[in-house]
Amino acid sequence: MSDRPNKFVHRELRAGMSGPDVRKVQEGLNRRASWRDLEFLRVVEDGVCGPVTIDHAAKLLYAMGLFGRPIIRVRRDEVLSFYCQRLLRGSRPRTAPMKALDQARRPRVRRWRLDQGPRIVRLGRAISNVFGPLGTFEATSGHYTAGPVPTSDAEGLALFRAYHEHHRRLGWGGLSYAFVVLPTGTIILGHEPMQKAAHVLNHNSGNVGVVVPGTTGDTANAAQQRTLRWLVANAHTSRMPSSHRLPKPIGQASIVLRPHQDWPDNFTGCPGDFRPFYESRGQRA
Ligand SMILES: [Zn+2]
Repeated sequence: MSDRPNKFVHRELRAGMSGPDVRKVQEGLNRRASWRDLEFLRVVEDGVCGPVTIDHAAKLLYAMGLFGRPIIRVRRDEVLSFYCQRLLRGSRPRTAPMKALDQARRPRVRRWRLDQGPRIVRLGRAISNVFGPLGTFEATSGHYTAGPVPTSDAEGLALFRAYHEHHRRLGWGGLSYAFVVLPTGTIILGHEPMQKAAHVLNHNSGNVGVVVPGTTGDTANAAQQRTLRWLVANAHTSRMPSSHRLPKPIGQASIVLRPHQDWPDNFTGCPGDFRPFYESRGQRA
């Protein structure tokens, strides 16, 4: 029996054992916990096969789709079999069924990373088509709400559901903006962009509304800038749900994120200090 870490497994690990091979298992366990967003299952990599390591290993193996005798041995006998150790240490699943399970059981949570794009949520309210089709998509407009700034996605959703009710009572069918960019960077999908809305006076044909919560004095934060840049780059791609996908890139329309008050005959303070945010397409606050 060797005490050196080895890519092969030489002994079954019982509770109370220690050594470099335990540390290898703990490293693998933490790696897998991170991949699966199960951070609460991480263990201290101290090379000691303590109760926490055994317990977390059992939970993680279960999450990986392991059932039957190997998992019973971990749970009841507190033994990590060769097979269990290989699963935890290995950088990839050993067999085709394990591979399938590994894929299937990965959480579908979209992390807040630029390469994956922002979180996208739906308003969760029916918006009726009052004004007919949008017509040729040729413009996007930038708005603010002249209201409070929510601090979480839940608050943001509640807020925009209230605006939705307000717009619905005005006879606009529901929330008039197609895209909401929350301070968390999350996008709320509102009015379907290819249906005409009522976000700018007299200039709604071909015009899609983008909005941020806030009023004069408020500015966009880094997450919102990043999301607006993502929107400009991706709103026409399959990364945008088909209900809200634009027929061409935002930047290829003749008017790009024009501040609401710049439209003729629109006497409004909107979008306040979010003007540079829209004009720079998310490059500046
Ligand atoms: Zn506006």
